[in-house]
Amino acid sequence: MGRINVERVAVIGLGIMGRGMAINIAGAGYPLTVWNRTRSKTDEFTKMGARVADTPKDAAAGADIVITMLSDPPAVELVAFGRDGVIEGLGEGAVLIDCSTVDPSTSLKLASAAKGKGADFLDSPVGGSRDAAEAGTLVLMVGGDKAVLEKVKPLLMRVGNKIVHAGDTGKGAALKLCFNLVIAHSAAALAETLMLGTRAGLDPGLVLDAVNSSIAGSRLYEWKGGCILDRDFSTNFALKLIHKDLNLMMSAAYATNTPLPVTAAVKELFGQAKSFADPESDYCSVIQALETLTGTVVKK
Ligand code: NAP
Repeated sequence: MGRINVERVAVIGLGIMGRGMAINIAGAGYPLTVWNRTRSKTDEFTKMGARVADTPKDAAAGADIVITMLSDPPAVELVAFGRDGVIEGLGEGAVLIDCSTVDPSTSLKLASAAKGKGADFLDSPVGGSRDAAEAGTLVLMVGGDKAVLEKVKPLLMRVGNKIVHAGDTGKGAALKLCFNLVIAHSAAALAETLMLGTRAGLDPGLVLDAVNSSIAGSRLYEWKGGCILDRDFSTNFALKLIHKDLNLMMSAAYATNTPLPVTAAVKELFGQAKSFADPESDYCSVIQALETLTGTVVKK
């Protein structure tokens, strides 16, 4: 009987996004190892038959494909380059895929360290939120060697349903920042339009319906507008993480000498929101910055 060649996969970071991705990878039959800083989040994976590693190094050791899905560049650097980190455990011929939203320079550092171990690297941040991570319908924005991407495509198609090869290393990270620029601007525009409508004496539900019935409508406005009107700020994508991304956009703007005046203002609005709302709450709680400034609450 021929040998069935199934890659051993490690998923490092079982937050909102990493959890859904790891469940789909386990469900597809890949032998899975997981690691998470808060160990209790690995319990459900033990029940699924996954191995729980003691350290990122231990998770990476023996894995053919290592996926990291962590908050921000400092978390990625700590888990990759710190003591008992991923790079220490990465084997020759393995592929490290960072799905976290980071800046291109973090991706370049990871690629260089992976190369030093005889391994390959792809930056592959994702579009889509908790629901898409759970459904396996993420959009993957990949930077790195196309041949390496082809090798890991069957696995990536278990966590997403669209792969965009953006270019060489760091281009996936750059594309993701462009993508999230639109998300952040949209959320700010939504909050401002619902606040203006409310203060002008309009029903904010009517405002939302009018916007969504026109060319200006969007799935984001439908989803997050509904959450704002219901006062449902339960987290799908944390306020603190979109603020992190806005800061990464401004760094990218600086590095590429690109003026982003509106994004700078949006960044400050989200920065204020972090003071007025729970930074761990969903990013649609950006409305709470405007509510604090005006003393007006937007609701049904
Ligand atoms: P999350 O739920 O907050 O999970 C963050 C993960 O990073 C957790 O596993 C957390 O461990 C780990 N972590 C944070 N700091 C760490 C450190 N210093 N050392 C070790 N581990 C650390 O975030 P998420 O929503 O899954 O987002 C993950 C990444 O995907 C972020 O880069 C985010 O911007 C991006 N993203 C998110 C969404 C979304 O809709 N949520 C969509 C697209 C992209 P603990 O469990 O111990 O806290």
